[in-house]
This record gives sequence, structure tokens and C-alpha cells, in this order.
Amino acid sequence: VNRDDCLNEDSRDPLAPLRAQFSLDRVDREGVIYLDGNSLGVLPKAAITRIKDVVETEWGNGLIRSWNSAGWITLAGRIGDKIATLVGARPGELIVADSTSINLFKALSASAFAFGYGLTGPFAASKASRILSEKTNFPTDLYIADTFAREQGMELVLVDEPEIRGRLKDGVAILMLTHVNYRTGHMHRMRELTQAAHDAGAIVVWDLAHSAGAVPIDLHDADADFAIGCGYKYLNGGPGAPAFIWAHPRHTQRMDREGWRPPLSGWLGHAQPFAFDPYYEPANGIQRFICGTPPVLSLAALECGVDAVLAASMDAIRAKSIALTDLFIALVEDRCAGHGFTLVTPRDSAARGSQVSFAHSAEGYAIMQALIARGVIGDFRAPDILRFGFTPLYTRFIDVWDAVERMRQVMTSSEWRDPRFSVRAAVT
Ligand SMILES: *Cc1c(COP(=O)(O)O)cnc(C)c1O
Repeated sequence: VNRDDCLNEDSRDPLAPLRAQFSLDRVDREGVIYLDGNSLGVLPKAAITRIKDVVETEWGNGLIRSWNSAGWITLAGRIGDKIATLVGARPGELIVADSTSINLFKALSASAFAFGYGLTGPFAASKASRILSEKTNFPTDLYIADTFAREQGMELVLVDEPEIRGRLKDGVAILMLTHVNYRTGHMHRMRELTQAAHDAGAIVVWDLAHSAGAVPIDLHDADADFAIGCGYKYLNGGPGAPAFIWAHPRHTQRMDREGWRPPLSGWLGHAQPFAFDPYYEPANGIQRFICGTPPVLSLAALECGVDAVLAASMDAIRAKSIALTDLFIALVEDRCAGHGFTLVTPRDSAARGSQVSFAHSAEGYAIMQALIARGVIGDFRAPDILRFGFTPLYTRFIDVWDAVERMRQVMTSSEWRDPRFSVRAAVT
């Protein structure tokens, strides 16, 4: 493979025209190669005009009338229906709200309810009181689950990936996993693990933070119970974009029948918010998971980010993602051989998401800073991982070639040894 092969690959790429949806002109002029869309997606051009319109016309002119006239009050559900098509959910089952961390808390609470009164008989009669997760899961998920477990008299048990199946029958009420690991890019087999958990009587919560918009997902086909996900990664919703939550209808129907109260029972999750009833009565279905007033400006940006993904098919996105990540792995291992990089992402493309991570002994942080100084933006995850995300909507094959070439230069020149690259910033 050489640079011309990559240019040819780009000229044949059916997704290539969709790159123009994104605001990359200045980034391109500055010679920056952005390989961090798994952490913060690129700004969609449409969001610039949309937010201006929401601010100037809907807020500025429409004022409070816009809750009705501009449809602000139903925006979270409308975007939820769009995200639903990306993850194999049906209209009305998925809602946009709050952050991933907060939605996880709600999903765990709902899982305890589903476990107790659902598939396996009363919670009180069961000895199962464990939440099982992976030690390398994203820390916020573990912190939230730990606090939730303590509050409920449950216990959070953390294991390594190969041990998950073997521990399911060990008193597990809830299996909580992130579909694609933020650190290694390893992707779980959602359908098989969900089945194994159900066979053991457990409820499954999937965090789709690193997979929604990056890989095809079919929550119904997997028979998943609950899912949450992030708006600012592959959904391009902008910094701090609202997140989403989904529940299988078998659970929301039971919640409806039993009047289940979510743990954060805010007024917009009430059956009739504008009745201003002093007593809480949950809305039906997924709507009960809305707590307070939605962030309209952020939702407007998120909708543009989701629309940008909907412009392609998830199958086309996945095919290009595999091609990009395969190419990156092959080029780094060839052109940067002998410089101490160890692949930590699965070599088998079926077992990875849309990122590639390399470990590098103690120098990973400085190497990433030197790379960023050369215009290749990835990120660093302590203690030793250099992480590169590939977003098929805007990452080109030529970007992969040029990024690896600059990585090679950083290593052969030893410029990463410059002390300024070892100064830690607040966000790595
Ligand atoms: C990015 C990410 C989050 C982010 O949570 P916030 O509440 O938005 O800060 C949570 N979980 C996982 C697995 C993530 O990758």
C-alpha cells in the first residue's frame, strides 16, 4: 500500500461526498488530521445555521411561544425516534435526555424493577443482588453503579472480559456492559451475551456510548433490556450534548401497569405536567425517564449531528470503518515497527468498534502530545494508551496514510522527548 493507493481508495469511496456535511475547511487548511471523533464528533455545518435560527428566530422572536410553535416540547422524542433507527429500536421507545451518567442511573433503577417483578420472580425471593460489569468499563459507569448498588443493598462486581459469562450465574441481577470498550475498542457480542444473561435470569443494560452511530446495532434482535448512549461522540451532537435512554417495551408496559416511578421523578416525566398536580404520577412508556426541561439549543445541535449520520447507511459506515481501521493497524505495524507500539485493539475486525488503540510503555502521553503538535489529533488514556478514532463520514484513507507518516516522523526524530510534551493538561 502506498499513498496513491489511499487516494484511489478515497476516489472510490461511496461515503466521500458526505464529508462536505462537516465543518472541516479550516481544520484541513491548517493540516490537521482529526482522529478523535470517538470522543467529540466534528461540527456539522448544518448545526451552525440551525443554532443561529433557533437562537434568533425561535428564542429571539418566538419567545415562550416556541415551546408549542417551534415544537420544542416534543424535540427530545423526535430526535429519539431518529436515533432509534440507528440502534434497532422502534419509534416512541427511545428518548433524548440528560447525560449518559444520569441515564445510566435511571436504567439501573429500572433494571432492578424489571428484575424484581419481571422475568425471574420477585426480587425479594431471589438471592441475586449483584451488578456485574467489566473492570475496564468507563469509570463513570462504574462509579454510578457502585453508588446505586450501595443504596440498594446490592453489590457491584467487576471482572475481566473473559470471565463475564462464567460469573453470570453467581447471584447476578443486572449485567451492565459498554458495547465498545472506550480504552481498547473491543466490541462485545451483544446478542450472545444478552442471551447468556437472560438464561441466568439477569437483566442487561448496554451502554452504547462508543457504538451508536459507529457500528450497526439491533437492540430488538439482541433482545436487550435497557440501553443508554452518548450524543457527542459518533452522533456529532457537540460538547456536552444530551444523551439517550431506551427500554424494551416489555419493561415499559409493566412499568405502565404497575405505575412504576423512576428514581428522578421530575415534572416533565409526569403523566400531565401542565395539570400541576401536587402528586407525582409517571407518564407512560419511555416518557417517564424525562426529568426536567430539555436543553433546546443543545438538542438543535444534536439533531444536525444525528441527521449527518442518517445520510449514510450503517452498513456502509461499518464497511468503511473496518477498512480504515484495518489500514491504520497495518500501516502502524509496518511503518512504525520497532518503535514500541503494541496493538491493544482486537485484530479481528468483528470484535472491534471504530477505534484503534496502541499501548506504549511509559511514553504514550508525550508521544500523543508530539503527534498533536504535528496536527494528528488522537487522545491518551492513562496509563499507556494512544487512542485513534475513525469516523467514516469524514475520515479519509489519505488521512490514515498521512497520520501514520507523521507518527513515524515523531518517532524517528525523537521529538516527543521534548519536555514540553510531558506537561499534563487537564483533559488528556
Ligand atoms: C463517553 C462515555 C460516557 C460519558 O458520560 P457523560 O455523562 O456524558 O460524561 C459514559 N459512559 C461511557 C462508556 C462513555 O464512553
